[in-house]
Amino acid sequence: MSSAGEAILCERCDAVCCRLTVVLQDGDRVAPHLTTWRDGLHVMARDEEGWCVALDSARMRCGCYESRPDVCRRFAMAGPYCLELRADYSERMRRGIPLQLH
Ligand code: SF4
Ligand code: SF4
Repeated sequence: MSSAGEAILCERCDAVCCRLTVVLQDGDRVAPHLTTWRDGLHVMARDEEGWCVALDSARMRCGCYESRPDVCRRFAMAGPYCLELRADYSERMRRGIPLQLH
């Protein structure tokens, strides 16, 4: 449960984890137009604000859920990294600090 007493669910989140660098693995089958190369790594492309280009921004949900990368499949909702990201995001929003790309 969050500090506000609500369960942590992706459905009630601004897809904070979809601003992280997502490095693609050999077995991933993401549509090529959603990916790019950066620093020698094949990664999910991101928009100007830092969100993954596959994100359905109207619903803040993955727009390629069935073929999402393995890294995304393994990211644990309400796990330690999720909690850390959400806390950092909330603090930045509260203080009006621009988000940084990871
Ligand atoms: S895994 Fe965590 S950070 Fe990612 S969308 Fe779900 S609740 Fe938000
Ligand atoms: S592929 Fe989907 S789950 Fe993974 S970062 Fe992009 S929008 Fe999020």
